[in-house]
Amino acid sequence: MAEDGECDVALIGAGIMSATLGTLLGKLEPTLRVEAFERLDRAAAESSDAWNNAGTGHAGYCELNYTPPGADGSVDCTKAIQIADQFATSLELWRGLVACGDLPAAGSFVREVPHLSFVEGAGDVAFLRARARQLCRSPRFAALEYSEDPEQIAAWIPLVMDGRDRGTPVAATRMAHGTDVNFGALTRSMFTTLATQPGFELHLNHEVGDLHRDGDRWRIEVRDLASGDERSVRARFVFIGAGGYSLSLLERTGIPEARGYGAFPVSGQWLRCTNRDVIARHHAKVSGQAAVGAPPMSVPHLDTRWIGDTQELLFGPYAGFTTKFLKRGSALDLLRSIGVHNLRAVLSAGLENLDLTRYLVGQAMLSTEERLALLRRYCPRANDDHWEVQVAGLRVQIIKSDGDGGGDLKFGTEVVTSADGSVAALLGASPGASTAVSIMLEVLARCFPAGWASPLWRERLAKLLPSLA
Ligand SMILES: Cc1cc2nc3c(=O)[nH]c(=O)nc-3n(C[C@H](O)[C@H](O)[C@H](O)COP(=O)(O)OP(=O)(O)OC[C@H]3O[C@@H](n4cnc5c(N)ncnc54)[C@H](O)[C@@H]3O)c2cc1C
Repeated sequence: MAEDGECDVALIGAGIMSATLGTLLGKLEPTLRVEAFERLDRAAAESSDAWNNAGTGHAGYCELNYTPPGADGSVDCTKAIQIADQFATSLELWRGLVACGDLPAAGSFVREVPHLSFVEGAGDVAFLRARARQLCRSPRFAALEYSEDPEQIAAWIPLVMDGRDRGTPVAATRMAHGTDVNFGALTRSMFTTLATQPGFELHLNHEVGDLHRDGDRWRIEVRDLASGDERSVRARFVFIGAGGYSLSLLERTGIPEARGYGAFPVSGQWLRCTNRDVIARHHAKVSGQAAVGAPPMSVPHLDTRWIGDTQELLFGPYAGFTTKFLKRGSALDLLRSIGVHNLRAVLSAGLENLDLTRYLVGQAMLSTEERLALLRRYCPRANDDHWEVQVAGLRVQIIKSDGDGGGDLKFGTEVVTSADGSVAALLGASPGASTAVSIMLEVLARCFPAGWASPLWRERLAKLLPSLA
C-alpha cells in the first residue's frame, strides 16, 4: 500500500452534493486542501445525471405530495414553501457562480419551464382550489395561476387536454417561471472549476473501501480501480456523499449516530418520447396525484427536459423493486445492509409498509401496455410508437429506528454528523439535488461551527448568497 496522503477535507462521491460542498468550501476557506474520490470514471454518473432524475428543480411549485390535505378540507403548504425557499437559495448560488465565471452560461444547465399541477374529478379539483388559495398567501407563490377552464388549461398544456373527455371537471395551477435543471451538467461544470483551484483534486475511478479514526483524523482506504493500487488518505473532515452507498460507508465509521439506520431502495423508469413533433408541443412540467399506495416520490409527471441543447419529454417515474443501492451497484446491496443493529427496524418498516412493497412489485411487473395506459391519463392521445422505456436512477430511502425496536420509512433526506463534526453523511432521496445548497449549508453550520460563526465566513457567505445575509 502507498504512503498516507494528507488533506483537510475528503469528499466521497462526485455527485451534486459533493460538488456543492466543495464549491462552498472553496469560496469560504480557499486554503483548504480538498480531495474528492469517485468510483466511476465520470462525475455525476449516478442519481445526479440528467436522465437519472427528473431535473424538476423540486421547487415545491407543482408536486402535490408536498401539500397534504387536512381532514377539514384545509391544505398544509408548509413543506412546499420550505422547498421553494431552498430551491431559491440554490438558484441564487448558481446565478452568482455564473456571474463570476465559475459556471458556464446558465442555459447549459438550467432552463425556464413552467411548472403545473393538473387534476381531474370534483374531489381533486376542490383540493387543488384550496391548495392554490392557501399557497397564494406566500410571497414565493404570488405568481401562481389557477384555472378550472378547459380552454385555458389546453392553452397551457395542449397534450394533456387533447382527446380528454370534457364532461369531467379539471383544474390546473401554473408557475410560469419554473425550471428544468440538468444536475449532471451542473455537477460536472462545478468539478471542472474546482479542478482549477490549487488545493483541490478529483480522483475518478477511485473507490473508498473503509474509513476509521486515526488520532484527530479519519484514515480512509482508497482503491484505484484502474491500476488496483491501494492507498490511505488522512483527512480532518470527511463528507460521505456516496448516494445509495452513503449508509454503508457511514456505518463503517463506527460513530454512534450511524446506528439504527436501514435502507430501502426503489428503482425508477421513465417513458421517454421519441417523436420530435410531440416533444415540441409540450413545454411544461405537469405533476398529478399519486396512485393509491404509491410512495411520494412516484407522483407521475409529464416533463419537458433540456438535455444539452435538445428538448426532450419524459413521463414517470414508474417505481420498482430492486436490491441494488446504485445503478452501477451490486444485487447484494440490500442484503449486505442488514445487520444486528438495524434488523428489527428494517423488519418492522417492511411489515408496516407492505402496501408499498406490493405497489413496487406491481409496478416492476407492469407490461408496456399498462405503462402506456397510465401515460394516457396525462396524455390521452399518446401513440405507443412514440414512447420508449428509459431507465432512471435509484433512490435509497432511509429506515430509521424509532428507538422502541420499530423502524420508520422516511422519504426525505437526512444529514447525519458525528458529535465532533468531523464526519457528515447525506442519507435519503428527495428533495435532493434542487435543495443541495441548503443541505450543504447545514453541513457547514454543523461541522465547521467556528468558521460558520466567524466574521470572515459571514462576509464571504453574504457575497455568495446575499439573501441569507
Ligand atoms: C427517479 C429520480 C428522480 C429524481 N428527481 C429529482 C428532481 O426532480 N429534483 C431533485 O432535486 N432531485 C431529484 N432526484 C434526487 C436527486 O437525483 C438526488 O437527490 C441527487 O442526485 C443526489 O446526489 P448525490 O450527490 O447525493 O448522489 P449521486 O449523484 O448518486 O452521487 C453519489 C456518487 O458517489 C459515488 N460513490 C458511491 N460509493 C462510493 C465509494 N465507496 N467511493 C467513491 N465513490 C462512491 C457514486 O458512484 C456516485 O457518483 C431524483 C432521483 C431519482 C432516482
